[in-house]
Amino acid sequence: MTETKASASKTLYRPTLLYAGGDWIRDGEILVDEAGQIERIGPRTSPVPGQASGAEAGSMLVTIVDWPGKALLPGFVNAHSHAFQRLIRGRSESRGGRAAKTCDFWSWRPTMYYAASRLDPQQVFDVARMAFLEMVLSGTTTVGEFHYLHNAPDGRPYDDPNRLARQVIAAAQSVGIRINLLRTAYLRSGFELPADPGQRRFIETCPEFLRSMQALLETPASAQVHLGVAPHSLRAVPLRDLHHIADWARTHQLPLHMHVSEQVAENAACVREYGVTPVTLLAREGILTGQASLSHQPGGFTAVHAVHVTQREIRLLAEAGATVCACPTTERNLGDGVVQANAMLSAGLRIALGSDSQAQIDPLEDARELEYHLRLLQQRRAILDPSGDSSGVSVSGPSSAARLFQAATANGARSLALPCGELQPGRLADFFTVDLEDSSIAGGSEADLLPLLVFALNRSAVRDVVVQGRTVLRQGRHAAHDEIVQRYRQLHTAVWSGAAGPETRP
Ligand SMILES: [Zn+2]
Repeated sequence: MTETKASASKTLYRPTLLYAGGDWIRDGEILVDEAGQIERIGPRTSPVPGQASGAEAGSMLVTIVDWPGKALLPGFVNAHSHAFQRLIRGRSESRGGRAAKTCDFWSWRPTMYYAASRLDPQQVFDVARMAFLEMVLSGTTTVGEFHYLHNAPDGRPYDDPNRLARQVIAAAQSVGIRINLLRTAYLRSGFELPADPGQRRFIETCPEFLRSMQALLETPASAQVHLGVAPHSLRAVPLRDLHHIADWARTHQLPLHMHVSEQVAENAACVREYGVTPVTLLAREGILTGQASLSHQPGGFTAVHAVHVTQREIRLLAEAGATVCACPTTERNLGDGVVQANAMLSAGLRIALGSDSQAQIDPLEDARELEYHLRLLQQRRAILDPSGDSSGVSVSGPSSAARLFQAATANGARSLALPCGELQPGRLADFFTVDLEDSSIAGGSEADLLPLLVFALNRSAVRDVVVQGRTVLRQGRHAAHDEIVQRYRQLHTAVWSGAAGPETRP
């Protein structure tokens, strides 16, 4: 990298290739202003307009960053994360010695509850930093953190009920990733279910939740910290409270995220309680369409998972202008099922992506699994290519790759109501670079680079990450990498030492 430093505030990035507006610009450049917004993007005008390299552009000094051999792309937006679940990775991949026991989402939960029960506020910060570091290493510049760890281990609220939320926000700021803290309402165990002690750190009343949301909203604004509202699920939030929460979100123009139809049993419980499945209920109650003031602009309603939905429910979501947030690496890890991405895209429904349980943190792996899971089911290829396969030649061309890349970037930004995820003037300067000589993509040209990236990029090819004009990853290294990993190693040992093994209960 050639970096010509100046004392001023604008920065001009000059990569070999730049992905903007669905196309590659060779020898392009992107000018970022002092507020971290994209001011100009396009073919290179060398030297900087009206000046010699590294001097002044008009009256403003400019720092020039040359990135030969690199491609620059909009940063990924991870629209659904539970940062603390990074702790469970590798701890729930067996039946726990009980061969006859069904191993599924429901048997995975006690392991997650165990991890949740063990963390003090410092450890919540440490594990979140580890998850966010991995995200940055993968080119992710924004995380939507669906945060439901609220109470002390004994179930009582902290003096500040947002104490753990603030720890997670501080972790994001420490790593340098943009965060939308989707504070989560978790009000009960489930329909006709007794209280589960494993959930005592999650549970609040609806008034407590709304008071805590209000307090977060009144916290002085920070440029890279945003808020959203997240009723956990119809299982965890009764309908009457859901209406209060959705109304509150609408009043404050905040995005509304909710787990929807991840599990067949979740649908069955909804039918027992309300007579219909979740999406049908949400549409009937005006929760989807009630977000209409937001539905045709960024934000609105996001249904996380939406695995077990009917064709009619897909149409209902599309008509409401909602987004589905698929989490394929988690859904395959938990055995949830396959998101019907083909039917959703055909209906005009936007799909965003999330790392969810952190079984793996790699946004392009999530993107390609949207396509690959359907291939396995249908024994066909290029399912999400909108041009179809009428020629008889199976080509996974740029169009399907572009759709998947859009899911990993712009659609997530829209779901979180943020002006990022695309490289355009006026948008936030959130982007990353990849090494064009990395073994996983070397040899590609503009004609095939996007499908190469989407279907084959190794995370290690990510070189630089910039969030709102601030470099948080430089040549593949984060300044706090070793410290974050070291603290996480101590935390991991502290939590799991003495644990009997997978699916250990508190
Ligand atoms: Zn989730």
